[in-house]
Amino acid sequence: ATPTALLVGTGRGAQLGILIKGPEVLESTRKVDTIVLDKTGTVTTGKMTLLAIHTAEGVEEAELLRLAGAVEDASEHTIAQAVAKGATQRVGSLPTVESFANIEGMGVQGVVNGHLVLVGRDSLLTEWSVPADSTLVTAKEAAEEAGQTAIVVAWDGTARGVLVVADAIKNTSAEAITQFKRLGLTPVLLTGDNETAANQVAAQVGIEQVIAEVLPREKVAVVTRLQAEGKVVAMVGDGVNDAAALAQADLGLAMGTGTDVAIEAADLTLVRGDLRSAADAIRLSRRTLGTIK
Ligand code: ADP
Ligand code: MG
Repeated sequence: ATPTALLVGTGRGAQLGILIKGPEVLESTRKVDTIVLDKTGTVTTGKMTLLAIHTAEGVEEAELLRLAGAVEDASEHTIAQAVAKGATQRVGSLPTVESFANIEGMGVQGVVNGHLVLVGRDSLLTEWSVPADSTLVTAKEAAEEAGQTAIVVAWDGTARGVLVVADAIKNTSAEAITQFKRLGLTPVLLTGDNETAANQVAAQVGIEQVIAEVLPREKVAVVTRLQAEGKVVAMVGDGVNDAAALAQADLGLAMGTGTDVAIEAADLTLVRGDLRSAADAIRLSRRTLGTIK
């Protein structure tokens, strides 16, 4: 295509709510055959709320919320913010946390009122040799079957409760995925969340391929692996943990509603955070470059 055609293409993109880093980006957009989608914040709204609280025997709900809420209050993670907010709404102000640490892709830990508190996915507790509690395991599994995210709370080496958080699927996601398929692209859902919840969301939007329970640093390896299989990969994400994968993808697309780190790493920004704009971008590049498909 001529430079003029590419410039016209990028201008048209801006009208469609697609910001393109440079005219050459349209070239890589055209060749894409696989589109990897981050779940939280990309396919779903990312605005989590605390839905349910389950306690182990002998544990007071208010105590669970105070300790878990205090540790999560120190984290920026969307799950953490939902827990801290939900806890504050139910018990008022939260105690202070000492020795806080974020364990990427796993959860958080900190000392509250003299207790060493862990909040996160169940593998975090396994790592700390905290024995499972059968009542809590049942509650966790039921939440995941419903497509929700269950996180476990433990202190002083004992599992104390399960907190259930969830966000909603964006109402534009299913249509966007139908459009990707019509364009000949294979959608893949990629997430750090658990497999059951991820499968549930995938089924609701029409995605057949799911890669779940992926640590933030492993997301880039998933993209590399697909490329090694000969795929030309577009990746759509919004989070700090998506940045490396966005940069590695043949085409990186960031949600305009996402973090600056993701936007900087991407080739293209979907200004409105609407996944259908990704299909618009691919159609635009094919049209601009005169390929009929
Ligand atoms: P995603 O890829 O969906 O954005 P992350 O990689 O950030 O997810 O996190 C993966 C999983 O680790 C979460 O689904 C959750 O179970 C757990 N997790 C991570 N951070 C936290 C936190 N601050 N509090 C509770 N759980 C967390
Ligand atoms: Mg995300």
